[in-house]
Amino acid sequence: MTLLTPPAAVAPTRAMPARLFAAGPRADAAQHAACYGPLPGASALVEELRASGLTGRGGGAFPVIAKIDSLTGPPTTLVGNGSEGEPLSRKDATLLHHAPHLVIDGLLLLGAALNPGARLVIVAHADGVDSLRRALLERGDGQGIEVRVAEDRFVAGEATAVVSSLSGEPALPKDHPAHLTERGLGRRPTLLFNVETLAHVALIGRYGAAWFRGLGTPDDPGTRLLSISGDGIGEHVLEAPGGTSALDALTAVGAEAGSIQAALVGGFHGRWVPARRLARPLTARPAGDGEGVAVGAGVILALGAATCGLSVTGSILRYLAAESAGQCGPCVLGLPRLADRFDEHASGRELDAGHVWQLIETLPGRGACHHPDGTAALARSALTVFTDEIDRHRAGTCSEGRHR
Ligand code: SF4
Repeated sequence: MTLLTPPAAVAPTRAMPARLFAAGPRADAAQHAACYGPLPGASALVEELRASGLTGRGGGAFPVIAKIDSLTGPPTTLVGNGSEGEPLSRKDATLLHHAPHLVIDGLLLLGAALNPGARLVIVAHADGVDSLRRALLERGDGQGIEVRVAEDRFVAGEATAVVSSLSGEPALPKDHPAHLTERGLGRRPTLLFNVETLAHVALIGRYGAAWFRGLGTPDDPGTRLLSISGDGIGEHVLEAPGGTSALDALTAVGAEAGSIQAALVGGFHGRWVPARRLARPLTARPAGDGEGVAVGAGVILALGAATCGLSVTGSILRYLAAESAGQCGPCVLGLPRLADRFDEHASGRELDAGHVWQLIETLPGRGACHHPDGTAALARSALTVFTDEIDRHRAGTCSEGRHR
C-alpha cells in the first residue's frame, strides 16, 4: 500500500451529483462562465452564508459564518489555503487543477463583501499555482490576487503555519496563537479558508443558501470533496452530498464492500473505522458514539483483508513523528516512541499495551497545535479496531501472512 506521495490532481470521479466540477475537466474562463454564469454582487453574501450552514472543508469543520462573525474588524488579508499537507488528500489539488475559477470567485466575493481593499492570497502546491496563474490571466478581474507556493510538509497547512509562511517565517504552527480573525498577518484581522470552502462560497454567492441546502442533510448541508484511495481501488476524488456514508463513497469508486476490513476516515489525524460501521453517515463534526463518522479532512483510505492495519498505522505514525515541527515535548519525545512500539509490534515483538496506552494518554493537550492529539487519536483507534490483528501477531502471524 503506497501512502506517502506528493499532492497531485486526479480525474474527479462522476458518480454522485456534481457541483464543483460541473464546468468539465480543466475548465477555462469561458467554460466556467458558460456553466455558472457571471460573478454576482456580494451585498447578500454574508447573510446567504449564514443561512447556508456551510462549514470549513479543510478538516476542522468550523462554521464559516462563525469565523466571519469572530472578525474584530475588516480583514486586511483573506487567504485561500490549498496547502493540503495531508498525504492522502488529493481534493484541493484536483479542485485547483480542474476548477480554479471557482476558488478565485469565492475569494473575490468574500473580499468584496468584507473589505474591498483587503490583500487576497491563495497558497497552493506547484500544479495548483500553475493552474491559478493561468486562470488569472484568462479573466479580467482578480489581477491583484497573489499566488504563493505552499511548503510540502504535514503541519504547513495548519492555519497559523500558513500565516507564518506569508509573513516570511518558517511554515510552522504558532505556540498558543491569538485567533487569526483578531490578530493574524501583521497583527491585523485575517480570514483564512480552505480552497474548497471558497469554491462553495462562490456557488452560494450565485445560487443562494436554499440551493446549497438542496443536497446533504440539515446538519451537514451541501456537498464535499472526498479523497478516496486504498487496496485495489486506485486514487479518486469524489464529490458527495453531506450524510453520505464511507461505504457508499467507496462503492461509488468501485470498491467491493466485502473486501474491506476497515477504512481510515479523516486522514492521518483521523480514525480507523471497522467495516461494520462504514455504513454510518459521514459527519462534518465529531458525532456521538453510534451516530456517524467524522469526515475530518475528507480522506478515506480502504484497507483490504490482506493488509495489516498495525503495519500501516506504524508507517503513518513514523511519518507523523518525523513531520512534527519539533518544538514541543509530546512531538519530540512521545511520537517517536509511539512509532517505535508499533514498528516493533508489526515486526513480531509482543505489544507492550500498557506502555502504548500510557503514551497515547499523555500526548493530547500538551503541544502548541493539535498534531500530538490527532496522532494519539489515530493510534488509539488502531488499538481498538485491530484487536484481532494484535492477537494474530501474538501468535506469530499477521494478515499479510508474515511469521516471526
Ligand atoms: S505540537 Fe508538535 S507539530 Fe505542533 S507546534 Fe508543537 S512540535 Fe510542532
